[in-house]
Amino acid sequence: MPYLPTTTAGDAGHPVAQEMTIAIISTGGTFGMEASARGLRPAPVADRIDLLLRSPAIPGLAYTVVELAPQIDSANATPLAWQQIVDAIEERYEDFDGFVIVHGTDTMTYSAAAVAFAFSDRRKPIVLTGAQRPLSSERSDGPLNLIGAIEHLMLTRPQTAEIYFGGVGMNGTRAVKYSTTADRAFVSTATARVKSGGANSAARPNIIRSIPPFGRYSDLEIPVVRVYPGISARTLSAMLGDLPAAVLECYGYGNMPAATPGLLDAIAAASGRGQVIVAVSQCVEGRITLGASEVSTGLAEAGVTDGADLTTEAALAKLHYLFGCGLSASEVRELVTIGLVGELTTRG
Ligand code: ASP
Repeated sequence: MPYLPTTTAGDAGHPVAQEMTIAIISTGGTFGMEASARGLRPAPVADRIDLLLRSPAIPGLAYTVVELAPQIDSANATPLAWQQIVDAIEERYEDFDGFVIVHGTDTMTYSAAAVAFAFSDRRKPIVLTGAQRPLSSERSDGPLNLIGAIEHLMLTRPQTAEIYFGGVGMNGTRAVKYSTTADRAFVSTATARVKSGGANSAARPNIIRSIPPFGRYSDLEIPVVRVYPGISARTLSAMLGDLPAAVLECYGYGNMPAATPGLLDAIAAASGRGQVIVAVSQCVEGRITLGASEVSTGLAEAGVTDGADLTTEAALAKLHYLFGCGLSASEVRELVTIGLVGELTTRG
């Protein structure tokens, strides 16, 4: 179907979405869960989504509902589950104008980032949504989220994967799960971090074109290591393992317990072996600035990459993506801090 203009003025002057054919792909999550003796668990949902969307119909919407098998609690998602979503979109890419992914909230931010990177060289809108309370609950937020996500997609046609939840749409690579229960489950780090200086990186088509085509998300393991008071060199080394990359969640703008014996040596040894270690902040607002304090300078000297204001989730997905493009460790180190889909803020 050819692309139509994004919006036109309706009779009352309100924007009206033009016709779109959308694939609604359910991966599982609380949205469609049902009660069991052991708590909520995934259940078939395609018919219930269909019922929800049939009346009242959303003007201009033609849709197909796809249920991935098995429907999962997103706590069980792995990079292979990201690939299952990518495959489901890829198979239908030419036949649909956009994609709405129903997903659990626990790891929605990771999947959103993974999907955003995998489709960074293409522009059809992809929006992820879900629910804090299942459709089977009278007070479910699922219907509003799903209908809102579809309308958001039709009206704004985002060019990178977004999360729409609790009435708010945001770049999926910038989202952080904020609440276990509130309707507004997610916050975006974009505004918070832009406030502290710099500009959102726009999509970088010239850079994206220079990256070899993405292959697949695999079962490659990339650990996320959070620094905490009392962390020892032995524990840190065990967590970093002998793996190609790691995300290091530092304090503040990149601070470490640098006085702990052996800690920086363990990091230097891992990066010396070729491990790509990306520093991100445990804070939601602000960015990494290695070298701003003595306790962060050692990290730069140990070969750690400054992760700017990438969220942990975006850093993890981006490392998987860049390795999935077949890049070397030094190429990954270079590209991880260059914005591809608005995931980080360039220095202002
Ligand atoms: N554990 C659920 C999931 O992530 C939580 C949710 O969907 O809200 O699948």
